Amino acid sequence: MNRILSLETIQKVGQEVLLQGWVGARRDHGKIMFLDLRDRSGLVQLVSTKDKGDARPEDVIEVIGLVKERPASMVNPKIPTGTVEVEVKELKIVSKARELPFPIDTDGLEINEEVRLKYRYLDMRRPRMNRNIRLRSKMTMFIRNYLNALDFVEIETPILTKTTPEGARDFIVPSRLQKGKFYALPQSPQQYKQLLMVAGFERYFQIARCFRDEDPRHDRAYGEFTQLDMEMSFITQNDIITLAEDLFTKLVAELFPEKHISQSPWPRIPHGEAKAKYGTDKPDLRRDKKDPNELAFSWTVDFPLFTEQSQEDFYHGSGKAKFAPSHHMFTSPHPDDIGLLETNPLKVRGLQHDLVLNGYEVGGGSIRIHQKEVQEKVFDLIGFTEAQKAQFNHMLTAFTYGVPPHGGIAPGIDRFLMAILGEPSVREVMAYPANASGQISVMDAPSEASAEQLLELGISVRPKKV
Ligand code: ASP
Repeated sequence: MNRILSLETIQKVGQEVLLQGWVGARRDHGKIMFLDLRDRSGLVQLVSTKDKGDARPEDVIEVIGLVKERPASMVNPKIPTGTVEVEVKELKIVSKARELPFPIDTDGLEINEEVRLKYRYLDMRRPRMNRNIRLRSKMTMFIRNYLNALDFVEIETPILTKTTPEGARDFIVPSRLQKGKFYALPQSPQQYKQLLMVAGFERYFQIARCFRDEDPRHDRAYGEFTQLDMEMSFITQNDIITLAEDLFTKLVAELFPEKHISQSPWPRIPHGEAKAKYGTDKPDLRRDKKDPNELAFSWTVDFPLFTEQSQEDFYHGSGKAKFAPSHHMFTSPHPDDIGLLETNPLKVRGLQHDLVLNGYEVGGGSIRIHQKEVQEKVFDLIGFTEAQKAQFNHMLTAFTYGVPPHGGIAPGIDRFLMAILGEPSVREVMAYPANASGQISVMDAPSEASAEQLLELGISVRPKKV
């Protein structure tokens, strides 16, 4: 007999079927017991007797049984299989389950997060987590199909790479073949995607993992996150905004039909106006903040290209420059303001666009610099030394071989889902997020390297100071 899914039982009334899955709730009524059998399609009620097997919650079982229509008074309208039940003929316990460390029939937010992360494989049995992770997969699939139909090419870029300054600290990985040298994990595929435009692909995307060694917050997981990274050639800022708006409007309609978008087209608010009117460049424009289904999207545009350099901006410059990029150093100045680069850099507008949803920045992008001289000028203004400039020679060289004007955007998948689902943290939409100390609890990463590994890498670790 072939296995069927619990959801299929509604079409099998009067037939004997084979089901496999986990025991959900168990309700004992004297000799008879009711068990919920759960599989990837949902659950169905089993009616069994103890002599067939003492199946306990979370055991994995295999059952042969007869599908029966439930009497009208017993119908459960809350589940899709509520009109049927399965009378167990044979029950086999395939794998016993110990008592779980926490309940999985609640939303889980009341449980210590560290324990949830340590037993994430159990935590993801929880219906809310299971739904979130499945929705995430549906979302990336939708995006792939949408962009594929518009001629976009999905291209993977290296994870072992070189520093890609996006304003955060890099993760570095030692090289064995070139001792003493280090790869950096990409903070984003920014430079690679621009080089793909030089390569002539014109339309690129990637569901890209980005790595940033920054302290975690509720809207930012530690270490890594996922962006829908996109880049296009021969486009205007308006083209990018229109495309992203259409993509996410359709995505919401298809995957989150219960949600409604408060205003379309999405308002485009100049940075200065947003600051003056709302005191922030990511305003929460919901009309009714208590409505869990309202989505208020907006764009923040007309950012200044530079901000005044602060201590924290020293990551990229010599520490002596007055200016730091508001977005990143590849963002193009407004063409009308190029002259101001010489005279009044703080007055230069950048062709940056940030996507805001319910008060969260869920994406940012820009039209890029594609002229070597302008890029060099920006490097100077942000205080790059000759050695630092040399780190970006590949960009300057590429710009001498015929480069299309280009631009893009990178909406964050985790943050977007968090905001749409109204989840309290991005970790609620990630399968295996790190905890606040940067630990992936389920695997207990990071861990120490063995003496042999270190020797091979030419690395010695200083003993911890006590
Ligand atoms: N690379 C940028 C970021 O990670 C996005 C972009 O400019 O497309 O924020």
